[in-house]
Amino acid sequence: MTQKKNYFIDPHIHVTSRTTDDYQAMRNAGIVAIIEPAFWLGQPRTQVGAFQDYFSSLVGWERFRASQFGISHYCAMGLNSKEANNEPLAEQVMELLPLYVGKENVVAIGEIGYDDQTKAEDKYFRLQLELAKTVQLPVMIHTPHRDKKKGTSRSMDVCEEHDIDPGLVVIDHNNEETVGEVLDRGFWAAFTIYPHTKMGSERMVEIVRRYGPERIIVDSSADWGVSDPLSVPKTAALMQKQGIPEDHIQLVTYQNALTAYGQSGKMKETDWLEKEPVDRRQLFEGNSVLRGQIPEVGYSSSDIVEN
Ligand SMILES: [Zn+2]
Repeated sequence: MTQKKNYFIDPHIHVTSRTTDDYQAMRNAGIVAIIEPAFWLGQPRTQVGAFQDYFSSLVGWERFRASQFGISHYCAMGLNSKEANNEPLAEQVMELLPLYVGKENVVAIGEIGYDDQTKAEDKYFRLQLELAKTVQLPVMIHTPHRDKKKGTSRSMDVCEEHDIDPGLVVIDHNNEETVGEVLDRGFWAAFTIYPHTKMGSERMVEIVRRYGPERIIVDSSADWGVSDPLSVPKTAALMQKQGIPEDHIQLVTYQNALTAYGQSGKMKETDWLEKEPVDRRQLFEGNSVLRGQIPEVGYSSSDIVEN
């Protein structure tokens, strides 16, 4: 296996909402690659231009910002379920999406699915599944926080109705109640580890112990709320402490995400193993991440020490 020990992928994190300290800490903890799915921003957008600028930042500025900390940045493009309920706006976003899905760091359509499980959500979920089929990208599915079990089953039903290969679909935000069915039906089962609540690292250890590591993925979903961008490496450390085999830990905190989203053809291990060293003299459209500091040059994610 070419994979290095102590390398992690966080396949669901909204780094747009995080600070440079977070990026630095993530890199120091061994996170070499991340996927940032398009989602809502805590306050509904009122015009399509706001989506356009957001999507542009996911394939532009944020990707550059991550690179300045030695992290490979990918994203998923989609109209989130919450904002699908504003139908006039949703129509315009659907017209915008095809302009972005072909960009080189877009590895999936997502996060899409259900929030309140309304008719409008269902409509745009299905349209985006069709888009995923057309452009042959994997799908990242957000399962609802309310009525989760039903919403999760329904999400998979709809994928099957649209003839989507379950091997191309990551069902996210699972818990003990949903994981069995997701795995039985052949989908990838991702888990969001939030501090103090929902799915904590301890519960994740038990799930991997019980179900094994196949098709299970750990992520942070860190965003503008109370969340932890180091959830993945922290969960790995706890798994190690509690006797989960090393190769199982590597699967759930690194390899499975790479296998699932690598199906896009746009995410490869060489992206970070052979990454150019960080060079903070670089600019993105004339802007840097520096504020008068001396530019750091030379470290790369492959410098992370193995132990
Ligand atoms: Zn999310």
